[in-house]
Amino acid sequence: MTTPSTTTEMSAAAVAEVAAQARAAADKLAHTTLAERLAAVKAISAYVLEHKEDIADAVCRETRKTRTDALVSEVMGVLDNFEWLLHRAPKILADQKVPTPIALLGKKSRIYHQPLGVVLVISPWNYPLHIGITSIVAAFVCGNAVLFKPSEVTPLQGLFERIFAAAPLLAQSVFVCYGGGETAQRLIDTQPAKIFFTGSARTGKRILAQAAEKLIPVDLELGGKDAAIVFDSANLDRAVAGVMWGALTNAGQSCSSLERIYVQAGVYDEFVRRLSAAVNGLVLNYGDSGDADIGGITAAFQMDIIRRHVADARAKGATQHTGGDVLAASEHIFQPTVLTNLHENMLLMQEETFGPLLPVLKFDTEEEAVALANHSEFGLAASVWGGDKAQLERVTRRLVCGAVSVNNAMITEGNPNLPFGGTKASGHGRQKGAEGLLGYTRSKAVLYDGNSGKIEANWYPYTQKKYHLFADLIDTLFGKSGIARLLGLIKTGTALEGEAKKPRG
Ligand code: NAD
Repeated sequence: MTTPSTTTEMSAAAVAEVAAQARAAADKLAHTTLAERLAAVKAISAYVLEHKEDIADAVCRETRKTRTDALVSEVMGVLDNFEWLLHRAPKILADQKVPTPIALLGKKSRIYHQPLGVVLVISPWNYPLHIGITSIVAAFVCGNAVLFKPSEVTPLQGLFERIFAAAPLLAQSVFVCYGGGETAQRLIDTQPAKIFFTGSARTGKRILAQAAEKLIPVDLELGGKDAAIVFDSANLDRAVAGVMWGALTNAGQSCSSLERIYVQAGVYDEFVRRLSAAVNGLVLNYGDSGDADIGGITAAFQMDIIRRHVADARAKGATQHTGGDVLAASEHIFQPTVLTNLHENMLLMQEETFGPLLPVLKFDTEEEAVALANHSEFGLAASVWGGDKAQLERVTRRLVCGAVSVNNAMITEGNPNLPFGGTKASGHGRQKGAEGLLGYTRSKAVLYDGNSGKIEANWYPYTQKKYHLFADLIDTLFGKSGIARLLGLIKTGTALEGEAKKPRG
């Protein structure tokens, strides 16, 4: 385990130096084509594919993930994202033709999606490769140089550099800056064009405050307290297996882990019974060769939070059906813990736990389920299970969050065409999908007109005659329709054109 006990921060001078290099890299990147940048993505994609086992090793060593969690979420997720960029970026980033209204007849309107310059990516420790590299590569594809600050808990020292070395253009455009919060603050001080932050709400607020002073835009991907809603009509075999995975994958250290499981009264007892039995059958281990379900907790401070939440719930009357403590055989593994008899005043109902807990609560009506799920300061994602399609759609629309997986858990994240991001204390801005990719660009609105001697009707001089013609134009444009509108526009437009050529008289 390479988790450092102390963090070496970059000095202000070192940060200034790397920021200057990044600005120079951004200037160079501005002269590259999208095809050249995508060729670089292709090269690192081939590198990741060839070295997938080594990469999984590095991630497992630093995080205590199970090998399957590392291979699927980190390696496969990253390759899937690269593949998506290779296929979709040319269309999404292409110059866009947009319609020009009749009042601006003869002109052409375009939108250009241009790079921002140097962007700053700050990432957390729970998916240290996936979250960092998908953001970096999307930024690069859009033509930006990147200052990247990995988490000091899982720096993956040298891994990003090794991957980027497979594509010189990427290696010259991305600057990995090791350190903790101080280094990140110094990087913000260098005035990047935009900050892409993934991490806790607590740090997100601090970044937003610092960035506000410099008017730096910030995308925030923060924590969650995601709800699952299981209706009586759900296929229980599927709902139990899916909710269990959604709560426990990566040992619950996912921003979109299911942390509140609401089950309808008709199936509640059976659900708890089956869930507890299934949880007791899971294999707990890390350093495995692909045959363990639940791995370790990455950071000691996270283990403290999980223990505190369980102790608090038990002290306040919760019933514990499984687990409840650290595994005797390993101080780094917390046993998956099913809890019932829960109340709003318990810490695990209020704060993000980020651990392998399964708090199950009973509800009676659809209305109640929606209200309970929405009753949270967070709003990242949710999961809804049932057999009534109309009900599933109604509930999905009413949930206040950024993503809903229907009869599944966290599955929206498996489709790179879908945007990812939250609302409320879960942050704002989107990663992935067309919307996410365009977040790494600045749109430039362009209107091309001809080089004729024509004087526009709305230019000077302003005359009373023109004023009345404009009043007629407004009535025609917004008060008439069909042929009357067309004829009116021709008549008023021609008169205005004629007036535009006349000097004030
Ligand atoms: P964290 O906020 O402690 O740290 C995240 C990053 O911020 C680290 O790189 C850290 O060095 C840096 N940082 C610390 N202080 C800073 C400061 N003052 N200014 C700028 N940067 C600073 O988060 P974490 O513990 O690494 O990650 C866990 C959190 O991340 C959880 O809340 C989880 O839900 C969230 N998360 C969200 C998403 C999402 O996409 N919404 C994904 C993964 C994790």
